[in-house]
Amino acid sequence: MKKYCEVCGREVETEIVTKREMHEVYGETIEVEAQVLTCAECGEELFCEKLDEDTLLMVYNEYRRRHKLLLPEQIKAIREQYGLSQRSFSKLLNWGDKTIFRYENGAIQDKVHNSLLLFLRDPSNMKLYLTENEILLDEKQVAKLLLVVERLTNQKEVG
Ligand SMILES: [Zn+2]
Repeated sequence: MKKYCEVCGREVETEIVTKREMHEVYGETIEVEAQVLTCAECGEELFCEKLDEDTLLMVYNEYRRRHKLLLPEQIKAIREQYGLSQRSFSKLLNWGDKTIFRYENGAIQDKVHNSLLLFLRDPSNMKLYLTENEILLDEKQVAKLLLVVERLTNQKEVG
């Protein structure tokens, strides 16, 4: 892929090289082996959105690993086992409408939110949550969710 290099002042051949990079996440330094696009002639770093996104993902995942936070796909799996939309799940948890959407798309979750998600991963905890809390979903949705929870709990006992 040819790209314009500011240093060379013309279109140049590019290459991808691995480079140690430091990133700050909530005041913490995370070091990763990032892939960066460079000018094949002078070595200048060139902008590449895709590679930058991959690096950021790596940085966030390292931060999650250090702090034992759930990964976006794990949050999605918890939601999906209960057959809930992102919006309904946020509502059930009493969070802002877009919260689950943001977490599933890579935003780092609040620690307290992470703890609640971990707790609710277990269907028997979800049952407790549904029966012992004031729930902001309508009755029909709650009834449906309780059925799903019952089914998941039974599966667990059998398997
Ligand atoms: Zn160059």
